[in-house]
Amino acid sequence: MERGEKLYEGKAKIIYATDDPDKNILYFKDDATAFNGAKKGSILDKGVINNKVSAKLFQMLAEKGIESHFIEMLSDREMLAKKVDIMLVEVVVRNYIAGSLAKRMGRSEGEKLPETIVEYYYKDDALNDPMINRDHILVFNIATAEQIDTARATALKVNQVLSAYLLERDILLVDFKLEFGNYHGQMLLADEICPDTCRLWDRHTLEKLDKDRFRRELGNVEEAYLEVCRRVCGDL
Ligand code: UDP
Repeated sequence: MERGEKLYEGKAKIIYATDDPDKNILYFKDDATAFNGAKKGSILDKGVINNKVSAKLFQMLAEKGIESHFIEMLSDREMLAKKVDIMLVEVVVRNYIAGSLAKRMGRSEGEKLPETIVEYYYKDDALNDPMINRDHILVFNIATAEQIDTARATALKVNQVLSAYLLERDILLVDFKLEFGNYHGQMLLADEICPDTCRLWDRHTLEKLDKDRFRRELGNVEEAYLEVCRRVCGDL
């Protein structure tokens, strides 16, 4: 499958059309941004790792009955995916206190939550992706009740399956962000699942193995991404 017209260039990926109107090619870049683009940089071979890790996790989720846009890896930086119409809601799932939740609630990072928290953010760079709730989503016609409820149920299922999968590899799934898209009326899991979009801590040392190393300038960013790739994609 050949790359066609460039449809969209985001912060971490470029989306290309193909000769099949139902399929796109996702090209994973090394560019890294944080704080809604305010911090810019690049992480060597991040695109290769994020493509590989996302592909592995989407395959694993499919085996557990959770469908996504993923079709196949075409090359080290390219993924063939179903062409979805992305829902303008980012779904964040949290198992431990970290990041913006720690700030908002005035709590320290690392505490296990007694219950999983699901949050919604409105995908709008100009507004800085504000947090919204289900009522905002419905009243402002951002998605239908069926779409957001399906996305939420899928996100909780992903959390169960992914937490267990990662724990077997000595990784704690602290929190993560998912995106969904409409594919001929079906709400499909889309985008990517990788160290850019998840907080991943070593189970024993609690060392951060994710994009927080870049956001907070903790060093060893490439090493952390490689370590996640090794644990997720390597044999146990
Ligand atoms: N996240 C993401 N993209 C965003 C915002 C958040 O992938 O635009 C992920 C982030 O990596 C973390 C989770 O969503 O795993 C929760 O992020 P949080 O709200 O704590 O925001 P942050 O601290 O990243 O600003």
